[in-house]
Amino acid sequence: MQKRDSTEALLAAAGVTLAGSAAYGIKTLLHRNKITICQHCKNEFKWKEMAELGYVKKAINNSAHPKEVLAHWYHERIQENAICRSCFEKEFAAIEKRLSKASSVHVYPSTYKGRLSIKSNSSIMIFTEEYKDREYAKQVLQAWAAYYGKNVITEARYDYSTHRNDNYYYKMWSYRGTASLLQ
Ligand SMILES: [Zn+2]
Repeated sequence: MQKRDSTEALLAAAGVTLAGSAAYGIKTLLHRNKITICQHCKNEFKWKEMAELGYVKKAINNSAHPKEVLAHWYHERIQENAICRSCFEKEFAAIEKRLSKASSVHVYPSTYKGRLSIKSNSSIMIFTEEYKDREYAKQVLQAWAAYYGKNVITEARYDYSTHRNDNYYYKMWSYRGTASLLQ
């Protein structure tokens, strides 16, 4: 399994506002009020600008791709490496391009018995959190596959749990599967 922090923590770290987590996100970014050198272009910039301009938050919020995947990307690839705004925008365009391949990631359910030519050592387990919309959960799974550069998901299965809000019962869906590269 790919180990991940919770979506909420990742979104907060990226400055994306979610109920209850906004304060954490602002604090995380404001303490970086220092001049530093962009590790990409070697120009000086202020970390504080990232919080004040809110362009990280805006970019993630305005993207059509799953926010949790982008927040994870930001946390893993960008946050700990000093990066200026123009380099961030280049990197963001690159990750969006990568995620745009998500919809073409083939998803084979665990009941699929056909043979697939999977490249050896290319497989990783991926999973989603729970969502009210099952189809969206599947799309997020495809986005994770695309994020890790995979083009097929096998052994895909969904799960659900039942929740109650007063007298209203609803299901929350999650997906998991094995993401690989087809030869
Ligand atoms: Zn730069």
